[in-house]
Amino acid sequence: PAIMSKQATINIGTIGHVAHGKTTLVKAISGVHTIKHSHEKMRNITIKLGYANAKIFRCDNPFCPAPECYTSGGSSKDEGFPCERFNCGGVMRLIRHISFVDCPGHDILMATMLNGAAVMDAAVLLIAGNEPCPQPQTREHLAAIEIMAMPHIIVVQNKIDLIKKRDDSITHHDEIVKFLKNTQADGAPIIPASAQLGINVNAVSQRIVSHVPIPLRDFVAAPQLIVIRSFDVNKPGFSIDQIEGGVAGGSLLRGVLKLGMNIELRPGIITTSEDKKKSKKDTKAQTTTFLLSTIVSLKAEKNDLTFAVPGGLIGVGTLIDPSLTKNDLLVGQVLGIPSYMPDVFVALEIKYTLMYRLVGVKSDDDKGSTVTGLTEGETLLVNIGSHSLGCTVYAVKKDSCRLELLKAVCTAIGERIALSRKIQTRWRLIGHGKFGG
Ligand code: GDP
Ligand code: MG
Repeated sequence: PAIMSKQATINIGTIGHVAHGKTTLVKAISGVHTIKHSHEKMRNITIKLGYANAKIFRCDNPFCPAPECYTSGGSSKDEGFPCERFNCGGVMRLIRHISFVDCPGHDILMATMLNGAAVMDAAVLLIAGNEPCPQPQTREHLAAIEIMAMPHIIVVQNKIDLIKKRDDSITHHDEIVKFLKNTQADGAPIIPASAQLGINVNAVSQRIVSHVPIPLRDFVAAPQLIVIRSFDVNKPGFSIDQIEGGVAGGSLLRGVLKLGMNIELRPGIITTSEDKKKSKKDTKAQTTTFLLSTIVSLKAEKNDLTFAVPGGLIGVGTLIDPSLTKNDLLVGQVLGIPSYMPDVFVALEIKYTLMYRLVGVKSDDDKGSTVTGLTEGETLLVNIGSHSLGCTVYAVKKDSCRLELLKAVCTAIGERIALSRKIQTRWRLIGHGKFGG
């Protein structure tokens, strides 16, 4: 409870087709605009995973009606302010502190979306009310989080301010109901909202509180953090004594990280050699050098922490050469403590299942085209944890195969893997697998 005021305890993803309002909803709930890169601003689309922390507060007056009794704000907002409802007299109490993982909705950025899915505890699916439902990435994102076995999905019919007639909004609502049939979100309430105008945003907060429990976390296990962003925080012109070590941003899956702790990052630095004799088939021989360092700072957005717990996104400051952490270079790595690290693999035996049809493309019959079986030697894009990388498929059987990875990954038996294939010019989700079957 005390830590909740400083650090988010749960990660919630925003998913859905491009321009359906994911980033706008995150802004409406958290007050933070997740678009940070100038090229993203220019194009007004999310390219990298964005993240923003938000606090949800509830009025302590038991007679204050929902959803008006809910409000939200940034992670620096403190509880204890008065309820805004006229004459209520209640006081707002902190009841959830969440990290939003804001996914790009553009179809060429599916791999980035899948990296984000690796750390989500729940997802908000945004569906714009002024377009027919489903759009290609509405389908593809929902399929992706089903692959990750995400139990909690919140459905928002956004942009209701753009729907002119009541009947049109009902027709659109019915399209959503039909689309959700036989998915993990079948029967979920559909929250009509306008993220832009702030209409019913408190109902989304209410649904997060009522529907998404804070997951049970293992605090005593060896810590394991999945890196989804990494940075060089130094500005050009910094002198040598001002330079700070690299920062890794991500979510702790288990365990606790403390200031001063010795840490390891795997697979670390990967060097490939062209040595044809050593390498099997056409994969290059790889040498991995694990990175060892020390935690010199821990941050949840602007809050400094002395220790961090599983859940919300944190930044781990290290003494690693920042040239190794700049521009998200560490994405996909696992951060933990030496001698308690998962192994590193360059080939994985997996059990897999392919989808019947492609879901991420527009098509006339509204179902997409058929997914053909895996072929020996074909190239796929796989997502393992927050890593996306190329691989070659071998030893194809009906439900199992071997993936030879272009880059080593740190993972463990049982890990879920998303499989994408290049269709025309783009990587499309075609199925999923499990390491070790
Ligand atoms: P994303 O690609 O899903 O992150 O979509 P954005 O949040 O960037 O929104 C795309 C565009 O739709 C922006 O111009 C928003 O201002 C606009 N938008 C988002 N939500 C609403 C809404 O509820 N109503 C209206 N009218 N526009 C919205
Ligand atoms: Mg966006």
